[in-house]
Amino acid sequence: MPEENCKICKVEDSSPYVVYQTSFWRIRHIDETDIAGYCLLESKRHILDLSTARDEELEQYGVILSKLMAAQRKLIPSCERIYTYSLAEAVPHFHVHVIPRRADFPAEYKGRGIMAYPLSPVLELDRVSEVVKDLQRLLV
Ligand SMILES: [Zn+2]
Repeated sequence: MPEENCKICKVEDSSPYVVYQTSFWRIRHIDETDIAGYCLLESKRHILDLSTARDEELEQYGVILSKLMAAQRKLIPSCERIYTYSLAEAVPHFHVHVIPRRADFPAEYKGRGIMAYPLSPVLELDRVSEVVKDLQRLLV
């Protein structure tokens, strides 16, 4: 059941940030930061973490995460690392941050420094639309 006050449960399929969906998962480009290709992999069901995920959800999880990472690497040739983490503190609905870290990334934001990366400015919506279309093409 969707939670009334959950930001992720309220995401609409028509959002311009939505990249890809399966029956259990959604990939969405982030609407914070200016990092092109930074996506969230979020469960469609309102769960806190994978401890309560169903077998069929877990079966899709690894496949979709791998496909997203492969698409990010194709989209961003200078991608040296892909960071993944899930905290679920601000929004207690399972989602994984999947962040392509380019070679030219400022040193202070590499590794654990990514947590200090500025939330503004954000990527312009026109640029997000381009990236979303590119990722959709690469995810097929
Ligand atoms: Zn939710």
